[in-house]
Amino acid sequence: MEYNLQGVFVVAAGRGPVADSDNIAATDPWSNGKFCTPEDHWNLDDDGCPLLYISELLLNWPDNTPTVDLDVEGKIERLVGIILGYPKISRGMYPLDWPTHPESVKALRLSLLFDSISCDMFPEWSFRTSISNIHQVYWLDGKHHSKNKCKTITYLLFKVVRKFKTNIEESNKSNLAKEEIILLSRLHSSSNNSRSFWEMDETNLVIKNPHGSEYTIEDIKSKIDDVVKDNDHEFKITKIHDWIKKMTLIDTVQYPLPESVRHNMISGCSVIIESIFANLRNTIVTTFGASSILTDGGGRIRFYAEHDKNIEDKIKKSIYNTFLINNEVTHPFNNIIMENVEMYRDKYHTKYKDELYKNKRGMPNTELFSKLIGEDVAKDLLPPISYNKSNNFELSKKPFDPSCHLCNPVAWNGEPWEKYADWGQHCFAHKLIFEIGKSAKKRDISWRKKGKYVDLKVDEMFQIEAIAVMDLNSLGIMFGGKEEPFEYRMLKIRKSFRFNAQWWKIISDILDNNELKFGSLTAWVAAGDDLTLALRKGNEKYDLIMVLQEIDEKLKWAFKDNDIKFSFGAGVARKQNKEPILSLIKQAQSAEKKAKRHWKYRASIYDKQLVIVHDFETKEKKIKENIEEIVGCTVLDNSCYSDMNEAHKSIVYNLEVEEE
Ligand SMILES: [Zn+2]
Repeated sequence: MEYNLQGVFVVAAGRGPVADSDNIAATDPWSNGKFCTPEDHWNLDDDGCPLLYISELLLNWPDNTPTVDLDVEGKIERLVGIILGYPKISRGMYPLDWPTHPESVKALRLSLLFDSISCDMFPEWSFRTSISNIHQVYWLDGKHHSKNKCKTITYLLFKVVRKFKTNIEESNKSNLAKEEIILLSRLHSSSNNSRSFWEMDETNLVIKNPHGSEYTIEDIKSKIDDVVKDNDHEFKITKIHDWIKKMTLIDTVQYPLPESVRHNMISGCSVIIESIFANLRNTIVTTFGASSILTDGGGRIRFYAEHDKNIEDKIKKSIYNTFLINNEVTHPFNNIIMENVEMYRDKYHTKYKDELYKNKRGMPNTELFSKLIGEDVAKDLLPPISYNKSNNFELSKKPFDPSCHLCNPVAWNGEPWEKYADWGQHCFAHKLIFEIGKSAKKRDISWRKKGKYVDLKVDEMFQIEAIAVMDLNSLGIMFGGKEEPFEYRMLKIRKSFRFNAQWWKIISDILDNNELKFGSLTAWVAAGDDLTLALRKGNEKYDLIMVLQEIDEKLKWAFKDNDIKFSFGAGVARKQNKEPILSLIKQAQSAEKKAKRHWKYRASIYDKQLVIVHDFETKEKKIKENIEEIVGCTVLDNSCYSDMNEAHKSIVYNLEVEEE
């Protein structure tokens, strides 16, 4: 059989301006009209053919139904999910659920590659943008002509990979390449009834509207525009810092809680917040399609969904049910939740009697789950969730559970806390936060490969030596405010996706670092935007300032064509005596605030636009608050950019220096 790919190339010809002279790269949204460098994101020698990687993802999709057994609608979702950076990878997670994991980084790099190459059918868009728009229109139409969409997407994909791998002439060959045959087998197999997926009919390679005629680029734009205007939804978790403070209150009143317990509580809290986003992401992708997501990162998620008046209630309900056993969504820490429900029940067996809370097989029943961590409990426990920028949320000052010694430490009698059995009276939420934190720490180290293994001292592996807190500067200005017309919105979506994908790759590389002792650096996101880094003992020649320096260099390199360079303010605190971790974090946070003030001070001198706030309502321009020159801050100098504006340099405040 001769497989004809010619159709898609004919369609592609003569559609207006193409990207660059080689017709390969898409424009870089983080530059002034420059082009992306696709090979920055995917190395054919190390990563192999993108189609083989896609085939692998399709084959190993963590779900009961293999991809080949799905109907064509299901196949489209998986294929498009991969292209957009939302495949399901190990244990059923999306890459952004655990973005520093190497599997996640690879899946995001693939999507970044697709955002860096232009699309043949719609040359003014990147391939990723094109597929996203085609997919969204397909959803908005009620999924008409699925076969047409599946074939067109597949063949556009082949075309784009050919362009990336070889030159244009090569890419015009009509025979299917080996990798293409493999991918088609993963999708459709080669049994008789799948034959039509292998045959290309030139005239059918257009995006069909519900009436069967062709969608033009203008049709697609106006269709999406109409919907987005009135159906834009944003969810954000607010008061995260205050909430973590509230849930780890026991430290601040000087109770002798062991160091490791305290650390687990802190990381448990931030992991719980992350798991809410994992749940939210899953709900959105499965209910409205991966292409409905506008921005996903920085502690918020924004998407569009048509005509759904109860979206706020639905989404919140799904968030508050996040800890319950659910057939469709598995909580990333499902195993920990199950184990702990059982453990907690055993500890308080007189309260949670067998006859009421066990099923016939002797396992905890659904009533027990909902009593311990069901919808009503989660609503009380979790920090407030804002919808469409609604404000004025207050975190309740009341202890979550007044009878729990961790929620309400005043009630505690001062007994030691060494083992779980000695914990005294406590709520289930605290037990869960603790265990999730413990497991998260294990998982975080479990993927590491690089680093120095020599003289690894087990004692040192578990002692935190220094903490850094960092926060990126002027993100609002970096991402830009305007969203209309259509092109501006597309630009912002691309900027946001590209930023997140590259940012997490940088952090992942930093964590798995050759210069550091194995597994000695950990990171967690405390409130969406800011990042906390913890360095363990045993690195004589490497410290957190050097880690920050490296982040700064990589960040500037990743967005080298942007007029304003990315920068951050960071605070570092090093253990002097035996301070508890929480107080180390607090010191680093206050150091970070100083660095920020100093950064703003420098910006007000060297690039004033960075510290001006526009009030959209009053149309007033104001200069930011808290601008102050702080003596003792370090300006990170980046040797690659000798002529960089001083305001674009990152600032670090090192608390240790102050005390010397
Ligand atoms: Zn509690």
